[in-house]
This record gives sequence, C-alpha cells and structure tokens, in this order.
Amino acid sequence: MPSNFIYDNREQKFIINEWLDGEKIFSLDKFKDYYSLDDVEMILNQSLKLAKEVLAPTGDDGETQPCHLVDGQVIVPKSFARVYRILNENGFGSNYTDEKAEGLVPGLIRSMYTEFFAGANIVLVMAIGLTASSAGLIQSYGDKKIKDIFLPKMFSGEWAGTMCLTETGGGSDVGDMLSKAYPTDNPLLYKIKGTKIFISQGDHDMTDNIVHLVLARVEGAAPGTKGVSLFVVPKYWVNEDGSLGKKNDVTTVALEHKLGWKGSATVMLNFGDDGECRGWLLGNPPNEKGEAQGMAQMFEMINESRMITGLEGLSISQLAYNNALQYAKERVQGRKFTGGKDAPRVRLIEHEDVRRMLMLQKSTLDAMRALLYKTYYDLDVVAYSNDNDDKRAAKIRIEINTPLVKAYLSDRAWELTAEAIQIYGGYGYSEDYPVAKCARDSKILSIWEGTNFIQSLDLVGRKWSMEKGEMFAVWMADIQSFTEKHKDDVKLGREIGILADAYQAYKSMREFIISNLRQNPSLMPLYSTRILHMTAMLYCGMLILDQALLCEKKIGRLSSDTDNPDNFFYRGKVESARYYLHNIVPEVHTLSNIIRDADISALNIPEEAF
Ligand SMILES: Cc1cc2nc3c(=O)[nH]c(=O)nc-3n(C[C@H](O)[C@H](O)[C@H](O)COP(=O)(O)OP(=O)(O)OC[C@H]3O[C@@H](n4cnc5c(N)ncnc54)[C@H](O)[C@@H]3O)c2cc1C
Repeated sequence: MPSNFIYDNREQKFIINEWLDGEKIFSLDKFKDYYSLDDVEMILNQSLKLAKEVLAPTGDDGETQPCHLVDGQVIVPKSFARVYRILNENGFGSNYTDEKAEGLVPGLIRSMYTEFFAGANIVLVMAIGLTASSAGLIQSYGDKKIKDIFLPKMFSGEWAGTMCLTETGGGSDVGDMLSKAYPTDNPLLYKIKGTKIFISQGDHDMTDNIVHLVLARVEGAAPGTKGVSLFVVPKYWVNEDGSLGKKNDVTTVALEHKLGWKGSATVMLNFGDDGECRGWLLGNPPNEKGEAQGMAQMFEMINESRMITGLEGLSISQLAYNNALQYAKERVQGRKFTGGKDAPRVRLIEHEDVRRMLMLQKSTLDAMRALLYKTYYDLDVVAYSNDNDDKRAAKIRIEINTPLVKAYLSDRAWELTAEAIQIYGGYGYSEDYPVAKCARDSKILSIWEGTNFIQSLDLVGRKWSMEKGEMFAVWMADIQSFTEKHKDDVKLGREIGILADAYQAYKSMREFIISNLRQNPSLMPLYSTRILHMTAMLYCGMLILDQALLCEKKIGRLSSDTDNPDNFFYRGKVESARYYLHNIVPEVHTLSNIIRDADISALNIPEEAF
C-alpha cells in the first residue's frame, strides 16, 4: 500500500509571485519585519522537502497500523508522535493562531505548505489544525486563568485540541444535543455530563493531554443552538501549578471503523460517567433569556475548519491526479483510435479519453486552487490590513466564498479521485496503488463541518440576502466588470463570452428562486446544492480566466524560448482555463434551465413509491 507522494510547488509559486499581489500581503504590519516575498521560494521549497522526507514516509502508517483501543486508551501509529513533534518544533505546528507569536508567515503561505503536508500525511494536518483553532478560541474567549493554564502547551504542541459538537440525536441539527453543564461554587467551573460521538482526534497517545472544547447546555438555558455554551474540558485535570492531575472523568467508549483516515481516531466520548467531569466556561454564562454564546464561538473554529476541509480536498485530489498522470505516461495499452491497423501500441496518455480525464482533473484542480488561495489571501487582508476599503471587499468575498471552498472543493475531490482510479483501470481499484486511499479519504470532506447541503443553505439562505442582498450584488458585479473589461481579448475573448453567458444564466436563476420564494419555499432547499455548484463554477471560471490572461502575456514574452519549462507551465494553464470554460462552466446554463423548470417530482413522489 504505497503512499506515493508526488507533489510540486510551481502552482503555489505562480499564485503568490505572479497572480495575487504577494507584495501587499508581505507589506502588512504583522509580517513586514520578518519576511518578504523573496523568502517565498525558500519557504515553499523547504516545506515541500519536509513533506517529502519527513511526513510522506509516515503517510500510510495509519493504514498499516490503524488506530486501536487498548484498555480505554487509543493507540495511534508510533511514528505520528515523532513527526507531530518535529512539525511543532520547526515552526509548522499549532501556534499560528497565537496572537503573541512573532515572525509567523502569512496565512496564505501557511495554507500552501499545509497543502503539501496534507498530501503527505493528512492525519497530522488535522491534529495541528484542531489544536491551533481550539487554542485560538480559548485565546479569544477564555478568562486569563484559563488561558494561562492551556495556551502555552497547546501552542507548543505538547497538548492537543478537539471540537466536540456531535451527538447521536444532534448531528446536522446541533441544537438538539443533550449534553448538560451544571454550575459549581466557582462561576467559571461547571460539571459536564453527556456523550459526544464521532470526535476526531478525540483520544490518542501523541500528546500528554487533550483539551476538548465541548458544547453543552447549562441547566435552564434556552433550547436549540441559542442555549448552548462552550467548555474547556481537559482529558487530564491541570493543577494550579500546571502539573497534570488525575483523569477528568472523560472516557473513550468506542472507536469508529471508517472508510478512510484510519490513522485518525474518531471516537465516542462519555463526559462525567462518575459525576466528576469538570469544564471551564468560555465567555459568559447564559443571559436572563437563557441565551448563550457557545454556538457563535464555535463558529469561529468551524469557519477555519471549513477552509481546511476545502484545502484537504484539493490536496488529496492533486495527489491522486499526480499519481494517475505518472501512470498514464508509463503504462502501454492498446493502439491509437486514429492509428490504423498496424499502428504501434501506445501509452495511456496518448488516448483521447484518458486525456479527457486528465484534463478534467487538471482544470478543476486549477480552479479549486484559485478559489482556495484567493480566499486565504482575503483572510490575511481582513485580519491584518489597515485599509478599510480593502478589508470590506475581502470580507464580502470571504462570506460568499467560504461555503464554496468547503463544498465545491470537497464534492469535486470525491469525483476527481474517482477519475484518477478510472485512469489506472483495475489497478486503481486495488490498494496496491495510492489512488484508492485518496478516494476513501476524500469522502468525509463533504460530510463534516456542516454537510454540503448545510453549506448550500448558508450560501442561498443567508449570503444571498446578507445586508439586503448588497454583499452578493458586489460579488456579482466583480464578475460582470471582469467580463466587460476583457470581452475583446484576442486570445481568450470566446471564453470570456462563455463566462458572460453563464453570468446571465445565473442571474436569471437567482431572480427566479427569489421571486418564487413565497409561493414555493421548498424550491430553495430542493435546489440549493446545485446552486452552490453553479456559484462556484461561475466564480472559478472568472479566476481561472484571470490566470490565463496573465499566462498569455507571459507566453508572449517567452516565445523565442519554447523549451523553457515556464512555457509549458503557462501553456498548460491557458489550455486548462479553456477546458474549464468550454466543458465545465456551461453547466451553469444547464442548471439554470433545470432550476427554472422547477420540477418538484422529488417532493411529489409518495414515500412508499421510493
Ligand atoms: C470521520 C468523522 C469525523 C468527525 N469529526 C467530528 C468532530 O471532530 N467533532 C464533531 O463534533 N463531529 C465530528 N463528526 C461528525 C460530523 O460533523 C457529522 O457526522 C455531520 O455533522 C453530520 O451529522 P450526522 O452524521 O448526524 O448526519 P445527519 O445530520 O443525520 O445527516 C444525514 C443526511 O441528511 C441531511 N440532512 C440533515 N438534516 C437535514 C435538513 N434539515 N434538511 C436537508 N437535509 C438534511 C444531511 O445533509 C446528510 O446528507 C465527524 C464525523 C465523521 C464521520
């Protein structure tokens, strides 16, 4: 079961050095005294080397030595603790949400090396992400005492973090959860009781302690999500002097056997079986109406996890594509369709249909990466820029693009990894090649951090109408002005025209849904998943064309030097954009027609007839 980590960083360098305004990010006060754009080359080379040499050799350890439960303790592959420590000790660990940390690289660059790490060992990326973002929440909302107890060891990676929302009765609808919190004499301390399921990294032996962020309802608080609070519940109690005390009555009762991610322990946790589980409250107790802050706080962590989920989808499917491409260049099978009866046998990459599959993967990956990094760029701007206009524009894009990153990238990951298997033929279906694992690992991404249906409702139900629709109007106007500006482009004018048509089709679909909302509210949830996909294809169409316009200029400058690797890179990006515009973006049209047809047979069919 080889983990064949084939990965390159030319795309990431293009994005930061050539496409996005990298100088602007490095000139922000937060970063300017530590790094400049000149350091990017070194950072991306070193981190890719680390991914290849340190993480990738352990990438399959979760498959060969899956997590297991021994006397209530989860054991993970031995190599994980070592590599987790190396990452933390070398500045690639969980301290990136630490406000006090100096000399951090921009989030955009961090997400680029996280992409490499996720391809090499996805489980460790999750462990670091969960720890960083749970520590980030403690930093934002914890009392000083709570921060002093937990933050230093979480930021150093000595302790790990988790997020505990899900229960058997409270999955997508978290508000139905039953976990309870009971006040004690100390207003910050509560007794916790309840059961959480499916908790990622919920138990392991990589760190000395695990800090669970647990959603629970204080006795008497309001029902639903309004009434839940967030608690910091360590696996081992931490004494006043910082030493570890006894177990905090948190029990690992079951370990899930999953399709993928076998090195990541997904567990069921019981809190307070013996009435001894204590947790620190984050923020304020519920107010007199029983309203609490937990869900809003948890959303900060969820938003970060939505981005990382998209990133993981990109990374897994890029890895699958890279392997499938190598295989297609090596395996000889059959003769060319156009070759005649005496034609020689050829490699897979010479067949038209294999090229179709490769191009589908390449162009979709380019589009996914453009959307992901544009959004990470905007996150740096919103967090650290002093320019209010820039911040406002970036904030609008973040609001709308975050559900797209989560859902479009994760849905596509499942499809693209399936295409990678198809390229291998029967060998792809066997565990002897890495693409089967890629497909298995990708499926969960459309389910956690809010299923992709929930992402689509966030887009259509919330983001479309935020600020009375003004934010979405600004987002749409960007696409319209892009198509107007470039409509006469000599090289890519036709593709710009396709985008302009898709824009019009999208607009009429949106008007239709909005105008029918009163008479037929079910249309929105019935079609929102497809609307999200249309929205992503439309926006990605613009981003990928924007890259292609730039690459055309670069090709012009290189034309006398046709063997230059950059020439192939830029030509690849132009053809990739053409493919995306001609073969994928027109789906916006088709979907617009489908939605405006407003078929409701899925609702009319009697349940018994299914
Ligand atoms: C490997 C793994 C790791 C996980 N890690 C964590 C973790 O670390 N922490 C944590 O708290 N949870 C975690 N989860 C839980 C995960 O977030 C939930 O599985 C997810 O939120 C979906 O909840 P559910 O499984 O109960 O599905 P359900 O909510 O029952 O949903 C089932 C299906 O019904 C659809 N559906 C549900 N409600 C509606 C509705 N109102 N309208 C239309 N469709 C609807 C959903 O979109 C979905 O397709 C993990 C799960 C897995 C499998």
